[in-house]
Amino acid sequence: MDGNFNENDISRVVEADRAHIWHHLSQHKPYETTDPRIIVEGKGMKVWDQKGKEHLDAVSGGVWTVNVGYGRERIANAVRDQLVKLNYFAGSAGSIPGAMFAERLIEKMPGLSRVYYCNSGSEANEKAFKMVRQIAHKRYGGKKHKVLYRERDYHGTTISALSAGGQDERNAQYGPFTPGFVRVPHCLEYRAFEQEGAPQENYGVWAADQIEKVILAEGPDTVGGLCLEPVTAGGGVITPPDGYWERVQEICHKYDILLHIDEVVCGVGRTGTWFGYQHYGIQPDMVTMAKGVASGYAAIACLVTNEKVFDMFKDDASDPLNYFRDISTFGGCTAGPAAALENLSIIEEEGLLDNTTEQGAYMLDCLGGLMDKHKIIGQVRGKGLFLGAELVEDRDTRKPVDERLAQAVVADCMQQGVIIGVTNRSLPGKNNTLCFSPALIASKDDIDHICDAVDGALSRVFG
Ligand code: PMP
Repeated sequence: MDGNFNENDISRVVEADRAHIWHHLSQHKPYETTDPRIIVEGKGMKVWDQKGKEHLDAVSGGVWTVNVGYGRERIANAVRDQLVKLNYFAGSAGSIPGAMFAERLIEKMPGLSRVYYCNSGSEANEKAFKMVRQIAHKRYGGKKHKVLYRERDYHGTTISALSAGGQDERNAQYGPFTPGFVRVPHCLEYRAFEQEGAPQENYGVWAADQIEKVILAEGPDTVGGLCLEPVTAGGGVITPPDGYWERVQEICHKYDILLHIDEVVCGVGRTGTWFGYQHYGIQPDMVTMAKGVASGYAAIACLVTNEKVFDMFKDDASDPLNYFRDISTFGGCTAGPAAALENLSIIEEEGLLDNTTEQGAYMLDCLGGLMDKHKIIGQVRGKGLFLGAELVEDRDTRKPVDERLAQAVVADCMQQGVIIGVTNRSLPGKNNTLCFSPALIASKDDIDHICDAVDGALSRVFG
């Protein structure tokens, strides 16, 4: 650390935090007896806390965000230069970094053409849902307004995004939900045995066919959109089974349903391609992204659509309501696209997509290697530098381990100076999947270090 904070300053910060901060996703009772953790500084893959302890960050800022790593001066400089020139202007006006980033982004997304700026993943998804509804009103007398979402996927924290949320742990206690959102079954092959009628062979096609069943039950003329994560993140790092996406795309075409891919986690390099959907040869109508767009150097999210969607809002200028009746106040901040432009250049210039593919494969191997020694690991899965290890009491029954034990593994790694995560979120108390998403700059040494920490933690927690 650079020593800007002395011990007195830090204890003041800790007290201010304890007195006034309502931490995300946290029970606060423990803070009465333990200090809240404050991260003071970061560089590359590492962060330092208020005690000066160094941590190797295997989750990119806690929630899969800091894709290019910490301490990137060139992003900070680009943001500074932009802010002193023009920090903000919203409404119908554009900005130089907004236009320039949109152009660079669209180059990476063949078939898509329009970028709508806002400031969080939840907000971007809400806007996509609003587009589906407005199109329904405009074209289908309001009827084709329903949005399908998948069990175990997550699309955000606001009430309508939660209404499209397939993780019951996060939804518990927030109903009643917004009508018009309909759930389809998950596609986690490892847990297919829990799904009635799931076959041993061609599971991917079967899982996609379940979506068609829901469409037919609801009535195809009522369904306007299908929103899916390319690789499910918080729901347990779920890589889709073979054959799934091809069939999903067919179904969307067959029933004229807009395919909305939520790339809030996978977007901008996390899985080794610019976007997760690009592994599967599909062509979405709408894509939302947030976390990796500027790696957390500024708050920015985007909803990207194809020209077909855009055209539905512009074909009749004589109608005063014929435009997307939506705004995002902070969609007018220029720091976001200025940071995003540099972020994109860094990924290109440093070859971080290739690094992600290479190191991701290595990490999958290393974690997979731990399965020989640790029977508690039921499955290791993932894509690029986005990986999960599902912990089960018994490999035959696949009964999830008690969440408290999975949390103990995370805490043990933290003791060792390695930050990992745990997720699943399908049901309260069932978080049993260790998750890993180091920055795209991770080296083999970093990955060895992470896997050694996990190895040690599993030995201590499970014996
Ligand atoms: N979609 C996915 C797949 C996410 O993982 C998240 C956040 N974890 C969101 C949407 C919501 O993003 P935000 O927290 O920026 O609103």
